[in-house]
Amino acid sequence: MSLDLTRRDLILADHLIDGRWCGAAAGARFAVTDPADGSLAAVDAAQRALPAWRAKPARERAQVLKRWHAAILAHQEDLGRLISREQGKPLAEGRGEIAYAASYVEWFAEQAVRANGEVIPAPVGGRRLLALREPVGVVAVITPWNFPAAMIARKIAPALAAGCTVVGKPAEDTPLTSLALARLAQEAGVPDGVLNLVTASRAQAAAVVDVWLADARVRKISFTGSTPVGKHLARASADTLKRLSLELGGNAPFLVFDDADLDAAVQGLMASKFRNGGQTCVCPNRIYVQDGVHDAFVDKLAGRVAALKVGPASAADSQIGPMINARAVDKIARHVEDAVAQGARVVTGGRRLEALGPNYYAPTVLAGATPRMQLSCEETFGPVAPVFRFRDEAEVLALANDTPFGLAAYFYTRDIARAHRVASALESGIVGVNEGAISTDVAPFGGVKESGYGREGSVHGLDDYLQIKYVCEGGLG
Ligand code: NAP
Repeated sequence: MSLDLTRRDLILADHLIDGRWCGAAAGARFAVTDPADGSLAAVDAAQRALPAWRAKPARERAQVLKRWHAAILAHQEDLGRLISREQGKPLAEGRGEIAYAASYVEWFAEQAVRANGEVIPAPVGGRRLLALREPVGVVAVITPWNFPAAMIARKIAPALAAGCTVVGKPAEDTPLTSLALARLAQEAGVPDGVLNLVTASRAQAAAVVDVWLADARVRKISFTGSTPVGKHLARASADTLKRLSLELGGNAPFLVFDDADLDAAVQGLMASKFRNGGQTCVCPNRIYVQDGVHDAFVDKLAGRVAALKVGPASAADSQIGPMINARAVDKIARHVEDAVAQGARVVTGGRRLEALGPNYYAPTVLAGATPRMQLSCEETFGPVAPVFRFRDEAEVLALANDTPFGLAAYFYTRDIARAHRVASALESGIVGVNEGAISTDVAPFGGVKESGYGREGSVHGLDDYLQIKYVCEGGLG
């Protein structure tokens, strides 16, 4: 790969198993020709490394994570370039994702020393009752392509902080950033076998993960990705009753009431909808605007969207890069064609940008969207903002909640009573009130309904990797 990095050795293609970088390459400790062999070897290594890692004082685990955090930030430019090149997000967003990923590592370094247990007042004399929080064991982490650094960091960091060891599989489209992060983790002192990564082509993904699903030594799966794959993992891990954290697809509503600050609402939508070219799980997918401000909102929005600069991720002024692959652009085009066929109006965009390359799609605003359109039912995962018109609060709440998904929701209003009412009524794990940028390491990120369960970040994020052991000590009287 021709890429201008200060550390070329961060461009890695092999698996990381038991501290060795190995593929079919000569000199590797394991000659891994079949990724399923790699995935079994990774569990063997993680299981071997578990007793020593979990026994390490939390403060020492935290120090390793703090060194990893510093190393990630020290290599922010190289890692940002790597992300931008392999995933297609503009360089500024690539750098931003590295800082975001690093923030989770720092947060969980700080949380490692706070996995406190409880002493429970005993109901009878001569006893002491303890509730201890212990690491769940070997954890398998499976991540998508849209945030190759952040998704893996916010799983690996709490797992290591809790005293778990990890086997992981990054997405086919974006393994390089994850492997570079793993190299830095090694340099920061993560011991051999504590963090293992197996890469695989899309065709081999199931074979790699099936090994982990069947292996009783893997006690937990932490997955971010699509809802169908999440459901498959839940079914397939039933036989060994693994713990699961599932961060799945969304279909976020974005509500603009008549009493909203329209400029703030447009700004919030631009930030949340067009980040990473619209390829985020918390992207607004359905934009509901009340009658009284509908036309003014659409005008303001279309002006901002038409001005977005589309171009290669490497160009300094690009705000929207290429979509991840041909399948993604085909889905976006299908959604827009279906909407137009059902009466939606293209206000701006609405076409592929073939002159730039095969994977570019113009930032788009559609007016006249309706609930029967495909883009209302499925994530578009692209730079398309469909606007629906609504009359009143009850109607829009019914529309917003009429989806099996429940990850993020946003709304804009200046009425304080409405703000409380609507925040309570929305069926989603995350709600932005007069705010479009909601992600942070210090807050609990996760969904309800078919968007999954488990929380990443915040004080709750560590709990996903801990289990409670009740110890009843008798004969003390
Ligand atoms: P995906 O197809 O479900 O892939 C996610 C991961 O699962 C990839 O590593 C993929 O490998 C792997 N995988 C695919 N099929 C598998 C199988 N049968 N068994 C085991 N693993 C399998 O999702 P995606 O299309 O890459 O990502 C987009 C989705 O992720 C969207 O729905 C988005 O909303 C969701 N997402 C959710 C969050 C959240 O926090 N809730 C965050 C980001 C994204 P390959 O890459 O090799 O196929």
